[in-house]
Amino acid sequence: MRINVSQQLKSPIGSMRDYELSELVDIAGSTSKVEGEVRLMRTDRGILAKGRLHTEVEVTCSRCLSLFRCPLALNIEEEYLTTADVVSGARLSLPEELGSFTIDEHHVLDLTETIRQYALLAIPMKPLCREDCAGLCPHCGHNLNLGPCQCLSPGADPRWFQLSKLVTERKGTE
Ligand SMILES: [Zn+2]
Ligand SMILES: [Zn+2]
Repeated sequence: MRINVSQQLKSPIGSMRDYELSELVDIAGSTSKVEGEVRLMRTDRGILAKGRLHTEVEVTCSRCLSLFRCPLALNIEEEYLTTADVVSGARLSLPEELGSFTIDEHHVLDLTETIRQYALLAIPMKPLCREDCAGLCPHCGHNLNLGPCQCLSPGADPRWFQLSKLVTERKGTE
C-alpha cells in the first residue's frame, strides 16, 4: 500500500491519520489479501506507522505435508524516515541507520515491504494444519487425518520387531 504523506509531513509533530487497508501482497511466493487499520503519526524524523493487520498465507503442514491457509496477525510498528524536504524538495541526508524504511522523494510511504517482512516473521517455523494433526503413517505415508491406514502397529507385527532388532544391532556394531 502506497500512501502520499506530503500533507501530513507539513503537519505538526504528533498529528495522526488513520487508514483502512485492504491490499494484495506477495508473501512467500503466493498472493495474500492483507486487511486492517494503519495509523500514521508525524514524528520529528518522518512518519511512524502503526497497524493491526491480518492475512492468511498458504503453507505446508510440517506433520502431514498438506497445504493449508495459515492465519497471521501482524502488529506493525515502523518509523519511515523522510529523504526529501517536503517544502523545498531538497534531499536530506539520511541518518546512518541501515535497514530503516524511508519515504521516497515524492513523499510516498510504501507499506508493502514492511507488511511482507512482518508476515514472513509471523509464519510459524513448524506450521500445523491443526493443533492435533495426526500426521502421516511412517510406513505407508497415508495421511492419518483421513482415517487409519492398513498398516498394523509396529508392536503387533513380528516383522517390524525383527526389523527394529536388526537396526539396533547394526547401531551397536558401528
Ligand atoms: Zn497436518
Ligand atoms: Zn500405514
